[in-house]
Amino acid sequence: MSNNTHNWKPATTLVHAGALRSNFGEVSEAIHLTQGFVYDTAEQAEARFKGEEPGFIYSRYANPTNDVFEKRMCALEGAEDARATASGMAAIAAALLCDVRAGDHVVAARALFGSCRWIIETLMPRYGIEATLVDGRDLQAWEQAVRPNTKLFFLESPTNPTLEVVDIAAVARIANGIGARLVVDNVFATPLQQKPLELGAHVVVYSATKHIDGQGRCLGGVILSDKTWIEEKLQDYFRHTGPSLSPFNAWTLLKGLETLPLRVKQQTESAGKIADFLADHPKVSKVIYPGRKDHPQADIIARQMTGGSTLICFELKDKTAAFGLANALDIVLISNNLGDAKSLITHPATTTHKNLKPEARAELGIGEGTLRFSTGLEDSDDLIADFDQALSRI
Ligand SMILES: *Cc1c(COP(=O)(O)O)cnc(C)c1O
Repeated sequence: MSNNTHNWKPATTLVHAGALRSNFGEVSEAIHLTQGFVYDTAEQAEARFKGEEPGFIYSRYANPTNDVFEKRMCALEGAEDARATASGMAAIAAALLCDVRAGDHVVAARALFGSCRWIIETLMPRYGIEATLVDGRDLQAWEQAVRPNTKLFFLESPTNPTLEVVDIAAVARIANGIGARLVVDNVFATPLQQKPLELGAHVVVYSATKHIDGQGRCLGGVILSDKTWIEEKLQDYFRHTGPSLSPFNAWTLLKGLETLPLRVKQQTESAGKIADFLADHPKVSKVIYPGRKDHPQADIIARQMTGGSTLICFELKDKTAAFGLANALDIVLISNNLGDAKSLITHPATTTHKNLKPEARAELGIGEGTLRFSTGLEDSDDLIADFDQALSRI
């Protein structure tokens, strides 16, 4: 059962769900900037620590402002429980590491956010957890990678930066067939455009830094799953390793959630127009956009996503052209964040994906001329005019 007991639509959920007002009855959520909480009696403290009485103990465990953010995310996602974290990577590291031990094996799609790949390829093996990276689009590769000790599947879809799509329901069936858990990084789709839990995934993770804040103000993350997994697998790991979100940032993210549907809708509409403009431009050799019919996996997108995307991946002739365009853009800023109110462009080969070997980049389709564009809230006519003038100068 989700916290969405009212059966509200997302826009209503994101303004009201999980409200927890103090005695003052404030309209905007209170920011509880406190490390801990006091007890009326020693007996009450004992009961709280035993878990016999509900209530807050220490902000590393839980905090009222964070609680509202977690409940609101649960209502949106259709998840039973959640934990908010200090960053997206804190969420992903916790979700992956809390559930494996030395001797276990993990299968992950190779098209991952750079830091996620480092956890799978470099960190996990240090602790005796083996991993196999596969082409996430190839269902046979997932099946063939399975070993008797495979405990975890991990993927992101659409992927960063080339916006490839993984068939989440099909991968979830393979995971379920062997009793492994599927963790999905749903950042690129946003919780509004894709529901991994409904598609059979067990755990969903977000970098709330991206669309959820969406205004470049703070880092944050969240892990969502069923109550049993959160309590039995994540809870102790979370309490004792301390990836907790600052209550101030939880409040900032709550403000972000209120406008998330408006922003994602507007940014997706603009992205669709800009993708069409770029696809028709003679200097652009390729456009990958999940909202276009020419996306190589348009059939899967139609099955598992409700919108296009706020992101566009496109290709110019070479690095000189890519740098030239980024430098010639006037409104669009050069930055590696995404989902922001400001339109941002990044050259993955020299920034977000510079740590990959050239062969690994080639496998992912990241070339020297590849650019990733994150559509902001500016007027789409102005953004198209900006691309038009910048392309004419390269
Ligand atoms: C940004 C991002 C992360 C990491 O999130 P942080 O908040 O920067 O720690 C993980 N996965 C994806 C897909 C991302 O875009």
